[in-house]
Amino acid sequence: METQYFTLNPDPDSDAEATSLAIAAAARAIQMGGLVAFPTETVYGLGANATDAEAVAKIYVAKQRALNDPLIVHCALDAAALRAPADALARQEIAGVLSAQQRERVVALVQRFWPGPLTLVLPRGARIPPNVTAGLDSVAVRMPDHAVALALIRASDVPIAAPSANRFGHVSPTTAQHVRDDLDGRIDMVLDGGATAIGVESTVLDLTQDPPAILRPGGLARAEIERVIGSVGAGEQGSRGEGEKGREGEEAAQVSPGLLSKHYAPRARLRVVRDTAELLRQRSHAAAQGLRVGLLVMASQREACAGLMPQYVLGQDLASVARNLYAGLRALDSAGVDVILVSEVERAGIGEAIADRLRRGAA
Ligand code: AMP
Ligand code: MG
Repeated sequence: METQYFTLNPDPDSDAEATSLAIAAAARAIQMGGLVAFPTETVYGLGANATDAEAVAKIYVAKQRALNDPLIVHCALDAAALRAPADALARQEIAGVLSAQQRERVVALVQRFWPGPLTLVLPRGARIPPNVTAGLDSVAVRMPDHAVALALIRASDVPIAAPSANRFGHVSPTTAQHVRDDLDGRIDMVLDGGATAIGVESTVLDLTQDPPAILRPGGLARAEIERVIGSVGAGEQGSRGEGEKGREGEEAAQVSPGLLSKHYAPRARLRVVRDTAELLRQRSHAAAQGLRVGLLVMASQREACAGLMPQYVLGQDLASVARNLYAGLRALDSAGVDVILVSEVERAGIGEAIADRLRRGAA
């Protein structure tokens, strides 16, 4: 199939007509059961009508994604629904029946963090077919904070199931070019809204457990969530429906497949080191063995790493590191390096998500 590309100007006033034509074409593709990649504030998503099992099945084929890896349902609540989100999600039959405690938590979290990089795992609603959730009786749902994503969901008039728009096992795409590199010819359309602002996936919070557990650290910091609902579990072993927990390291048995160690991996071998001195030492060591080494460097390491090519500068604060991390991994992979070296980051705030992706990429 030939993939169509639409470039959307981020300034909505600049070319409103071209933008609305592209959104209308994309919404038609979604309604006809097609696949559309679109920007969100976290990473690019690969969307299909979340209420259409046949459309959803195409996502797994295009991505070559394991069938036991559930998708996130993206919704666009209006102002009234954002004030009463538990009712709205139940009325739209995205979520099923919630307990009083679940309702309370949904309301508090949604009012504070939606639209935004927080995915909530809730009992599954009747409109969501089982292949969206990989057979689980829970569903992951979020409202993205991106004008293009919201316009697409509203114009499509259905919730949109969307995992990251990459081939399974690759790092998530943060630009439309990354999507093209992985999925060109396999999907109907790509909406190019520029580079994504956050750069790592959403935080997945399981509200079917008590206390709730973070299944995947992401764009919203744990401390922010805890300020609203109190302490949350670590989430390395959450609920996955009875009988589905299995042997360690077995993919089908994983609680939240975003936690698979194979996820987020570059092609090259990734090594996370303690500090700049260790980075330089390991670089010399690998180079002496005839390996090509690429460096992901913090702005503060540029001087110490001057002239050591190829290198990709991540930035000077954790937000920049998160924003640039996947592009850096892809760039060094394209440069054909054997080994990628990067210093570990502070685990505070979004640093927890960065450290998580580095650890999994290095596994
Ligand atoms: P992706 O958008 O590719 O990062 O994938 C979505 C991720 O959300 C999955 O890999 C899971 O980690 C998580 N997820 C989605 N649905 C559920 C669910 N029902 N229960 C637990 N985790 C989920
Ligand atoms: Mg993914």
